[in-house]
Amino acid sequence: MKIFVNQVPFEGVFLEEEIDPSKLDLETELIKFSSPVKLKAHAWRITNALSVDLNIKTRLHAACSRCLKEFDWDWDKDVQLNYPLDNSITFIDLDPEIREEVILDYPIKPLCDPSCKGLCKKCGINKNEGGCNCGST
Ligand SMILES: [Zn+2]
Ligand SMILES: [Zn+2]
Repeated sequence: MKIFVNQVPFEGVFLEEEIDPSKLDLETELIKFSSPVKLKAHAWRITNALSVDLNIKTRLHAACSRCLKEFDWDWDKDVQLNYPLDNSITFIDLDPEIREEVILDYPIKPLCDPSCKGLCKKCGINKNEGGCNCGST
């Protein structure tokens, strides 16, 4: 998301945009996206600075680190950004900050559910979906 300084009145402006996650280089081996990154920004100017209240929303996709099931979850974050301005700055590119905010929240071990029971170490059955005959030993 680019904000052109001369298009931001002092009283502020509301902006919306959807970005393809690949444009922000957001996908990793573990984390994929099942929706675009949706941005809602309120930008306004104060003397020599631009302030932005930004809401970032998207839907992430990963395989559970315990049971390997693929699942989606909604992700949503509000951030406040401030950029100093001088006469040489015509626009602000928010993409590096947006990328950082999203990546900061990536789970190290994604879980389909905090209580996921995982797979049986012997037969490989998904223990969330039923028991197996291996017993508890
Ligand atoms: Zn799981
Ligand atoms: Zn088993």
